[in-house]
Amino acid sequence: MSDSKIYPVSDELAATAHINNEKYLAMYEQSINDPDTFWGEEGKRLDWFKPYTKVKNTSFDPHNVDIRWFEDGTLNASYNCLDRHLATRGDQVAIIWEGDDPSESENITYRDLHERVCKFANALKSRGVEKGDVVTLYMPMIPEAAVAMLACTRIGAVHSIVFGGFSPEALAARIEGANSKVVVTSNYSLRAGKSVPLKLNVDKALEHEAAKACVDSVIVVKRVEQDVAWNDSVDVWYEDLVANASADCPAEEMEAEAPMFILYTSGSTGAPKGLKHTTGGYMVYAAMTHEYAFDYKDGDIYWCTADVGWVTGHSYIVYGPLANGATSLMFEGVPSYPDNSRFGRVIEKHKVNQFYTAPTAIRALMQQGEDVLGDSDLSSLRILGSVGEPINPEAWEWYYRIIGQNRCPIVDTWWQTETGGMMILPLPGATAAKPGAASRPFFGVQPALLDADGNELEGATDGNLVIKDSWPGQSRSIWGDHERFIQTYFTTYKGYYTTGDGARRDEDDYYWITGRVDDVINVSGHRMGTAEVESALVAHPAVAEAAVVGYPHEVKGQGIYVYVTLQAGFEQSDELLKELRMHVRSEIGPIASPDLIQFAPGMPKTRSGKIMRRILRKIAEDDFGALGDTSTLADPSVVDDLIEHRMNRK
Ligand code: ATP
Ligand code: MG
Repeated sequence: MSDSKIYPVSDELAATAHINNEKYLAMYEQSINDPDTFWGEEGKRLDWFKPYTKVKNTSFDPHNVDIRWFEDGTLNASYNCLDRHLATRGDQVAIIWEGDDPSESENITYRDLHERVCKFANALKSRGVEKGDVVTLYMPMIPEAAVAMLACTRIGAVHSIVFGGFSPEALAARIEGANSKVVVTSNYSLRAGKSVPLKLNVDKALEHEAAKACVDSVIVVKRVEQDVAWNDSVDVWYEDLVANASADCPAEEMEAEAPMFILYTSGSTGAPKGLKHTTGGYMVYAAMTHEYAFDYKDGDIYWCTADVGWVTGHSYIVYGPLANGATSLMFEGVPSYPDNSRFGRVIEKHKVNQFYTAPTAIRALMQQGEDVLGDSDLSSLRILGSVGEPINPEAWEWYYRIIGQNRCPIVDTWWQTETGGMMILPLPGATAAKPGAASRPFFGVQPALLDADGNELEGATDGNLVIKDSWPGQSRSIWGDHERFIQTYFTTYKGYYTTGDGARRDEDDYYWITGRVDDVINVSGHRMGTAEVESALVAHPAVAEAAVVGYPHEVKGQGIYVYVTLQAGFEQSDELLKELRMHVRSEIGPIASPDLIQFAPGMPKTRSGKIMRRILRKIAEDDFGALGDTSTLADPSVVDDLIEHRMNRK
């Protein structure tokens, strides 16, 4: 793909953006050569109660993984997102909330939000929550979710958000794992006009003895006027608690390295990991990446479509934008309700300037055809973002043309729950984009590619993507299991942070994420990432989505097994099978020619929308008895269908 198209930075953006190419190069160099000075300056974008005198103190040595940033400073995350803005932007909208029902929306100013957060913070205190306690949030995308996050951090409580789509079992495990004494939820959540019984799920989670033993309060937001089962000794209405609460709640002074939140990974490659993020470094990094990646300027309306249950929602709906005094849109609904034009309607209604979504959403829209957004006015858009999976060049081009109207740069942001913020991305005023490439590292980030023996590779090549030194947003540990943290990220290649992803570096030093290292396919000695083969398939007009895995093959070592979801209007046929094989051969070469192709009505995905290739691999190997941890699988019925129609029966 070295002959890929290049989309240069427009002259206008190069002239007006926070960061142009010259600035990028100079700042990048300083961030690597003199991190203390660089981050010492950047840290000042926050308000500190006690300024730090030390900046970086980090070690990736597997015997002593220890990561500290700004360690002798004190601050408060909630204060940085709210109080410090009151004098200058109290009347500015902090959160635009757009409900599931298009007739419902609300504008919440910084002053309103501050008051709501203070009241709920006092309410939490009234239920016995103290500094260092863990509060589990199991909530829909309603303003109270952001309020609860900021209320926790205000009083030094650690929040652990469990995505509202998870089962009672997954919720129970996370409550226990964190020994959480309070759960905040809502009676129901609304999704595409239907109500989902969140409170009932909490009740079921608390049927697990160990979870029940931890929790002494369940605080319930009344999202809809509908009854729920009630246990007076534990349950309390959110509305009743805040009605009597004082709006005066000074922000707790926290050490920079005080834990701020726990958050689990998506569980794409195995059992989810509950990562610990701390206050100072995380906040500096979230704020800075948000400002630069989206070239955020005062007055812009910014929309990230993620759920607050994922790290993207933490860093880029709540903490990054609010630390920057931004207006952040929070969307309760789904892209297909009331119809498929919803994203366009919301962009038009609120005059959104920056729009940040995931490849899975883009591919779903693509499937509906080019006029999917109807006559929505998208002229307010300036910058687009993508996160979560590699974006196939075909999907990138569609996003650019149909949503970006051939004028908005796309920022493809590679990062992880572990990294706290974006790591590799094309800054819109600095980096010419290549569709499908995450491109260049953010400040302070030193990617490297290693071979299987841990040797650093030079030049244009592919390998295991690692990071050579710490950056402020990095997770500090796995909650309650530092040993697993070390084992998972710091022992495979000593002295490096191992990402678990593979990448290719091209002749312009751009990084292309090729997929998970676990998913690399080895055909007759040729190693292939999944992303390239999948992108070739998605480029065929009949293909909406594709997933590629290896399976044991007598001659080649591994064969290529392909799962394909067709575009609306295409039917499976032998002709089409032949055509798809030919298509991959001509796009990549005979070596990548699929051995088996299964038509799949749907892919197994995590709740955050990522394809779970480890399950597809099991099915391809005809070994689906034990599918591993499926607690984060969105729709188990998809798997049954795939098993039923599997191609490789022994
Ligand atoms: P688990 O770690 O539990 O297996 P997960 O890795 O899917 O789950 P997340 O932290 O939500 O959990 O996802 C991070 C991963 O998502 C990255 O390691 C990468 O594989 C993928 N990813 C995210 N953004 C991009 C992107 N822009 N391009 C390519 N891959 C991406
Ligand atoms: Mg991961």
